[in-house]
Amino acid sequence: MGKARYRIGVDLGGTKLAAGVVDPEGNILGEAVTYDHRGLGEEAVLALMERNVDAALAQAGAGRADAKGVGVLFPGHIRWPEGVTLTTSNLPGFKGFPLRERMEARLGIPCLADNDANAQTLGEYRYGAGRGLDPLVFLTVSTGIGGGIVIDGKLYRGFTGTAGEFGHMIVDASGDGRCTCGNSGCLMGVASGLALPETARRLAGRLEREGACPDLPGGCSDFSALDGALLAAGCADENELCRAVVDEFARYLGIGMYNVFQVLNPRAIVLGGGLLNLPDYFFDAAASTCRGLAGPMMYDRLEIKRGALGGRAAILGAAALFEA
Ligand SMILES: [Zn+2]
Repeated sequence: MGKARYRIGVDLGGTKLAAGVVDPEGNILGEAVTYDHRGLGEEAVLALMERNVDAALAQAGAGRADAKGVGVLFPGHIRWPEGVTLTTSNLPGFKGFPLRERMEARLGIPCLADNDANAQTLGEYRYGAGRGLDPLVFLTVSTGIGGGIVIDGKLYRGFTGTAGEFGHMIVDASGDGRCTCGNSGCLMGVASGLALPETARRLAGRLEREGACPDLPGGCSDFSALDGALLAAGCADENELCRAVVDEFARYLGIGMYNVFQVLNPRAIVLGGGLLNLPDYFFDAAASTCRGLAGPMMYDRLEIKRGALGGRAAILGAAALFEA
């Protein structure tokens, strides 16, 4: 294994299972993606992961002997460094499963397994928008909200490995946005894909009382149909309800980032995830809310940036669990 120079990143998601071969410079040389693992037992999912790893290696013109390590992303809580899964709401099964150990035994390659948002944070820090920015906070805003923290070049994991769960910070103590954790007013419960239908329903009521148009684009009043793509299209069309939703999300996200600033005083906050495909004014409004709240307490300008890796964040982040 002395000449092994590639790292392999495996993204075990709720719907997508991807493996990629990464060179020391952060280029993805081969990649295999499948979508048929959901609902299968743990061992069957492992077999598919193994198949994708071999397919990605073959595409890169390499074999297992060329790989120095495999990093696996898990969509939930997982013990570090043991790699035993704790909880996930995205993948059936996988409770208390020794993911790291079982994968290593199958492949015969050293393996590490970590939470997906943690590894994506590392990816942005090593190869993306966070390069050289330390301490770094990464926040991903899509269906839910996750994140990670890099301090002195390393992920800060906390006592049991669950640090950086920014989605469960309570940003509205009187809010009724229900979170997956059961609490109300969590950032994830008021400003993520999960919160879209309820927020739209509530704001539509307000617009109606004000005599404004309460409908979604195309006169649709089925709020459960609202997703990131429809929200972005509605904003482009100056739909009042969509703009009201985005304004509210931006304010909560800005409050969340302000809290992060106060606790960690990071050099930069990098934002990623599907909802960041919303118009620039969403990003700008969130950043200016954060800076406005901090006011003169922000002595040096906190950089707030969009992630640079997009769809590559997961594979590069998983691979980054092993030093290049
Ligand atoms: Zn929560």
